Amino acid sequence: RYYLARIADHASLNAYLEVFSEEAEARAAELDKARQAGAPMEALHGVVIALKDVIAYKGHTLSAGSKMLEGFTSLFNATAVDRLLAEGAIIIGRNNCDEFAMGSTNENSAYGLVRNALDPNRVPGGSSGGSAVAVQADLCMLSLGSDTGGSVRQPADFCGIIGYKPTYGAISRYGLVAYGSSLDQIGIFGKVIEDVARVLAVIGGPDDYDSTALSNKLAINIPSLDPSNIRPPRVAYFREAIAHPSLDPEIRYTLQKFIDTLQQDGAVVEAVPFDLLDFIVPAYYVLSTAEASSNLSRYDGVKYGHQSQTPPESLDAFYKANRSSGFGREVQRRILLGTFVLSAGYYDAYFTKAQQVRKLLVDKTNEVFQGYDALILPTAPTPAFPLGSGSDDPIALYLADIYTVFANLTGLPGISLPLFQHTNGMPFGLQVLSDRGTDSALLQLSFNWL
Ligand code: GLN
Repeated sequence: RYYLARIADHASLNAYLEVFSEEAEARAAELDKARQAGAPMEALHGVVIALKDVIAYKGHTLSAGSKMLEGFTSLFNATAVDRLLAEGAIIIGRNNCDEFAMGSTNENSAYGLVRNALDPNRVPGGSSGGSAVAVQADLCMLSLGSDTGGSVRQPADFCGIIGYKPTYGAISRYGLVAYGSSLDQIGIFGKVIEDVARVLAVIGGPDDYDSTALSNKLAINIPSLDPSNIRPPRVAYFREAIAHPSLDPEIRYTLQKFIDTLQQDGAVVEAVPFDLLDFIVPAYYVLSTAEASSNLSRYDGVKYGHQSQTPPESLDAFYKANRSSGFGREVQRRILLGTFVLSAGYYDAYFTKAQQVRKLLVDKTNEVFQGYDALILPTAPTPAFPLGSGSDDPIALYLADIYTVFANLTGLPGISLPLFQHTNGMPFGLQVLSDRGTDSALLQLSFNWL
């Protein structure tokens, strides 16, 4: 009831597309009753969780922030949702997001933009902006988002909360609306690192419905103050990333100071050369749009979803009318770009080249994590900016993904930790990456640094 009241009070933030009020209350009552009858307490008993509207919840609308899925009701639960429910969580509603998770500001939703609760004239980040604001403004305890190129870490950075993307495959993608399948991961927003670890421990693990899910469940220890966990870490950073001209000077200065402090505290913090920085964003936008153009071809408006009212002259014309009126501008731009880079005459020049860059990035991470426990980066080049200020220049927005897409291209776990504040009053985070499969250590290190 506390969260339902707060959601109603903060409706102007537009963080929720739908609140499951009666259902959530009934579920809470049922959980109370089970406890009173002596049932054992589940791992997430009564924990109030919101879902980005790209995660399937049986019997509930699933819109992906798009008009294209108009009237669509999910026929099954995402594996993550099944596991949350089995451990006593209460799902309170579905969060607004950029259409099909494409965007960095949550201004691409067909259901209106989302506002940053710390300054309602600024963006919350995206694409999981609604899920970030839901946690930021205490409209739930935790939320699930999706991160294909930073959509959990970057809005967490803009909102001053924790945003964590696991190792690729740690959480099943079954029931997650596909954007770029080789990059997509469900991620977790929270304010307390132990909570994030608890949710991961519940929803992670193998799944027969997702062949890309890791075949072994990652062992997740709940981070704690045990002094044996406070061994000084070996930390790498890319000097090129901190020196990059797109980085806000105050963020650069703050990170430099953070590095100095770690060194004074006995940690080994060293610069590792990295000459691929400027290739990361182009590789990401070639691969993600290529995958998106294929994944989104299923939305033809024939079997489900939005249908154009214009009487069709042919089946092709019907598809075209449905897709042209159902998808928003940014989604259409990406389908076109992805189709272009996959077309016969350009495949090798773009798609193959981007795959080669991806391989070099993976090789680089293998080298880095032979000598270091963690790699630190900024999460985003600037703090949250004013609403509307990025909307006329898509390329500038794409370039701002420079620090987040690396983890998706390489499958590494990554987290944005709310450690800093800009003199403009907005928060910004530290991004920490670790080797594939070392999520538990990453969460413990995050605990130590928070
Ligand atoms: N900003 C990135 C994009 O628009 C990230 C999106 C995401 O992670 N879903 O593709």
